[in-house]
Amino acid sequence: MHHEGTVIKACGGHYYVSLGEEIYDCAVRGRLRREKQQILVGDRVIFSPHSCGQGVIEDICPRQTRLVRPPVANVDRALIVFSVKEPPPNTFLLDRFLVQAQHAGVNPAICFNKVDLGEENIKDIYNVYRRAGYPVVCASTRDGRGLEELRTLLKGHITVLAGPSGVGKSSLLNALIPGLNLKTGEVSRKLGRGRHTTRHVELLRLPGGGLVADTPGFSSLYLPEIKREELGKFYLEFIAYQNDCRFNTCLHFQEPGCAVKEAVKAGEISTFRYENYVQLLQEVMELERRYW
Ligand code: GDP
Ligand code: ZN
Repeated sequence: MHHEGTVIKACGGHYYVSLGEEIYDCAVRGRLRREKQQILVGDRVIFSPHSCGQGVIEDICPRQTRLVRPPVANVDRALIVFSVKEPPPNTFLLDRFLVQAQHAGVNPAICFNKVDLGEENIKDIYNVYRRAGYPVVCASTRDGRGLEELRTLLKGHITVLAGPSGVGKSSLLNALIPGLNLKTGEVSRKLGRGRHTTRHVELLRLPGGGLVADTPGFSSLYLPEIKREELGKFYLEFIAYQNDCRFNTCLHFQEPGCAVKEAVKAGEISTFRYENYVQLLQEVMELERRYW
């Protein structure tokens, strides 16, 4: 009898494979080991269960996506978390995470946490991203707002959280997974840094279904190797205008006859999104000059 499950944890030659409510402690068939096939957390695997919750992995299914940070296969959802206040949202950083997620082939969603501190100052930002076509959820781990919406959003997916520290990523995981008890707040982060470098990534099971990585993803510092002409397609609200630019290679920067720039002037595309785009474009061009 063979089953298909998902590797949620790897540790010292043991692979923990989740199937329904059960978790099987699996070894790897010698053939796979000889072929040096690397098994990642998140991989779908074919395994044969033995007695007492143990089993042997026979095969690895083809991967849909593969993240480097954290090293997880088949992530299909990135939940990018910012807070309303403490710290206030930084849309340039948010756009950076959005670009990284989409470049990795992962569908992004945005969560504005700490709405108990007041919703007023994110209303405009919220609307911009919403109208651009991204799923956006307002949440609070204090009063429980948005948690049900998040459960629905993450159900049936493998998710990685991203966002700067202090916005409430650990608190959100604690709120979504009863009994988890991740440490939160400033002090734990200082201690936590060392811990994260030695610990392996693990997928946590959400009660409503779905898996979420216990380690935040992507990086606020580096951009992946994006080509300058790729960047525009990661700005979802640009796509409808792109075909009307005079040049089909238009970078929406210094070219004449740019429909995207026209849309910014007309107030159809938000100025701050466009400005973030130009800043990222310049960064991408600078990286190209250095490495290509
Ligand atoms: P992380 O660094 O993104 O994992 O953030 P933490 O989960 O460690 O939270 C950082 C701080 O924000 C902690 O002091 C939390 O208690 C606080 N916090 C988390 N969620 C909320 C929220 O919804 N509302 C408010 N007011 N504070 C929150
Ligand atoms: Zn253009």
